[in-house]
Amino acid sequence: MSPSPTNSDSDTPATRVFDGRVLALAGGVGAARLLRGLVRAVDPAKLDVVVNTGDDRAFYGAFVSPDLDIVTYTLASAVDLTRGFGLAGDTYRLMDELEALGHETWFRLGDRDFAHCLHRKLRMDEGVGLAALADELRRAQGLACHILPMTEDPAPTQVRLDDGRDLHFEEYLVRERSPANVEGVDLSAARAAKPGPGVLDAIANAEIVIVCPSNPIVSIGPILAVPGIREAIVGRGIPIVAISPIIGGAPVKGPADHLLRAAGCEVSALGVATLYRDWVDGFVFDEVDGAELASIEALGLRAVATRTLMKDLDIATALAATAVELALGLR
Ligand code: GDP
Ligand code: CA
Repeated sequence: MSPSPTNSDSDTPATRVFDGRVLALAGGVGAARLLRGLVRAVDPAKLDVVVNTGDDRAFYGAFVSPDLDIVTYTLASAVDLTRGFGLAGDTYRLMDELEALGHETWFRLGDRDFAHCLHRKLRMDEGVGLAALADELRRAQGLACHILPMTEDPAPTQVRLDDGRDLHFEEYLVRERSPANVEGVDLSAARAAKPGPGVLDAIANAEIVIVCPSNPIVSIGPILAVPGIREAIVGRGIPIVAISPIIGGAPVKGPADHLLRAAGCEVSALGVATLYRDWVDGFVFDEVDGAELASIEALGLRAVATRTLMKDLDIATALAATAVELALGLR
């Protein structure tokens, strides 16, 4: 993969609404869609993206960090757009061969994707940290924004099902295809982790915080669970604006509905706003849920209803600009 000059995040587009330092909290696909717009609404060189690593796991001897890779490859326009993850045009010869040899291959990695994840494992074995590797990759992809893993410590998110099984998040999502019978989510590993290199500095320098429309429970939840991160963000007293991943009472994609219900939250924009109310100041949600505006504002949040289904880059850019402008208005 070579960086694509036409899709660099460091052009200075006419859509920029803020030149200051921005911190974004991110999971995978939902975050990546928003970030493609955010790098146009703000200065990407002053954007720090703190990414969930609760989904990370070793597969076939390689180290997979799904959310870091989705964010990086999406911003670099290298992502497989139909899947939302993996590399565009990748082949699956390694997986097919492993399967033919009788291995379990429920977690499918493309050949080039595998090479990158194996490279990461080999470099980690040499003592290079996940943060340095994430930074090497984003530089190689020509990205100006900083992409920071929430922690370098193992912080696997575990999902407990009502049949007593305790699954790694990828086992729940991919192998079991995210069933509804979730009893709860265990973030104890994240609760015992340290913030990754650069994370606390990024928080200390930020002027506003944007919470991407990511899964509140298993993408944003693990980041906030790392001791020191939530406290540092809230302690800054800067505006924090979140975007709802729930539109019309359902997630756009993924199991946020099952996980929100298991956490006792309503599956709606209001439900997410209620979950976030203690630490977030502003909330952007979809215009189809406009009837929830008064209830969301009654939680003490400043709220804006707009188009949030990011079908293209223009919508993502407008949404990112709306979130940033809401934050600027709260300063
Ligand atoms: P994952 O780690 O790949 O699951 O990605 P995230 O946690 O970042 O995002 C998952 C969430 O993104 C899901 O709950 C989706 O509802 C949400 N999402 C995906 N696309 C969109 C979109 O276009 N608009 C909004 N508002 N949410 C989206
Ligand atoms: Ca994820």
